[in-house]
Amino acid sequence: MKRIVALGGGESGVGAAVLAKVKGFDTFLSDNGSIPAEGKALLEKYGIPYEEGHHTPEKILSADEIIKSPGIPDTAPLVSEALKAGIPVISEIEFAGRYDRAKKICITGSNGKTTTTSLIYYMLRNAGLNVGLGGNIGKSYAYQVATEDFDIYVLELSSFQLDGMYDFKADIAIILNITPDHLDRYDHKMQNYVRAKFRITRNMSEKDCFIFCDDDSVTVGHINEIVLRAKMLPFSEKHEVAEGAFADDKKITVRYEGEEWSVPTEELSLKGKHNIYNSMAAAITGKIMNITNDIIRRSLATFENIEHRLEKVMSVRGVLYINDSKATNVNSTWYALECMNRPVVWIAGGTDKGNDYSEIEPLVREKVKALICMGKDNRKLHDFFGPIVGTITDASSASEAVQKAYALAEDGDVVLLSPCCASFDLFKNYEDRGRQFKAAVREL
Ligand code: ADP
Repeated sequence: MKRIVALGGGESGVGAAVLAKVKGFDTFLSDNGSIPAEGKALLEKYGIPYEEGHHTPEKILSADEIIKSPGIPDTAPLVSEALKAGIPVISEIEFAGRYDRAKKICITGSNGKTTTTSLIYYMLRNAGLNVGLGGNIGKSYAYQVATEDFDIYVLELSSFQLDGMYDFKADIAIILNITPDHLDRYDHKMQNYVRAKFRITRNMSEKDCFIFCDDDSVTVGHINEIVLRAKMLPFSEKHEVAEGAFADDKKITVRYEGEEWSVPTEELSLKGKHNIYNSMAAAITGKIMNITNDIIRRSLATFENIEHRLEKVMSVRGVLYINDSKATNVNSTWYALECMNRPVVWIAGGTDKGNDYSEIEPLVREKVKALICMGKDNRKLHDFFGPIVGTITDASSASEAVQKAYALAEDGDVVLLSPCCASFDLFKNYEDRGRQFKAAVREL
């Protein structure tokens, strides 16, 4: 019997193990940290042997195939040993794709994945379709393939998930944008990261569709270097396109198979330039999926943004507090600042990922009146923004940051938490950071 070993006991590893077991493989799961209680309960329910707190090499290197969690790099000792021994190492998505006949809509990009994936899922549900949501979001794709029977999946895919994909094929693939992120996992080479993102287009034929941002020079540059057979559907905020979508000041226009159709921008529920891109990508997908213009339009107008993404918390004494804790890189903060139309008291900082702040310097000069640095080590922010921003101060907790913001902000300002950085120095994760921020605002 073929032996499958899942490495990593998070959502994707446990889901992959369940699917392997259901498909009759000799299955084992190993995690060198601890496995969350729900994961263990599932493994036990399906009778899957597992270990935690360590890896036993013999139990792993006896695998015919290894399914690796996206969080584990190829350079992890056991993974490189497995690769040296010629054992195929794949991702949960690759594995689950083998057993799934559903149509697959796959979304990647440096920013906007979760927003766009959720928006497309919402639209397909509104159209009454039998659709599942997975990948980097919600229940793992593999677990759903094992236990559900959907006709369509909307999958959010990170570059790490794409890395382990070989035969998987998307029916509709979307690359929202490509800006530097996670370069530590790609030998600090942008080209490697770009190639990982483009794995989403592997195996696509003329019948499949590729949706991408025509304003993104990195994406377009790479398209010009490769052969892609899929139908190309660009979106742009800068120029018209023959087929795809484009936006001007007033509306987005979608052109698909000879039809042209528009939605006024003011009707879109998601605000900001970046969300116009996300809405266009969703609208093109809706057309390909044969959804009526009316349902697409209503979905774009009524979708409620997900937590921690430019989420309006509340107004206190005329000051609006916005939680954008998910902005963990410079580019996502660029879009947050870009759509602010009131003076900004900005809360930033955390674990720096090699940030280059020059990209946002003009916006900070124009819009930010005070900066509160919320991190253990704020030197880099002080060095860069000290000469630019009138007031700059430190905070070592969300409540201290909110208190200081409250003191600095005046009627008509916004307080924006958009950190540019990871959260691990002071918080468990970005959700924890966002929730603590919101709790502190509610206590004002
Ligand atoms: P991801 O899942 O790719 O991390 P999210 O949808 O969670 O993306 O959004 C992450 C951050 O990026 C948020 O701060 C959000 O406001 C911002 N953002 C969303 N869409 C885009 C986009 N198309 N381009 C740039 N930034 C975006």
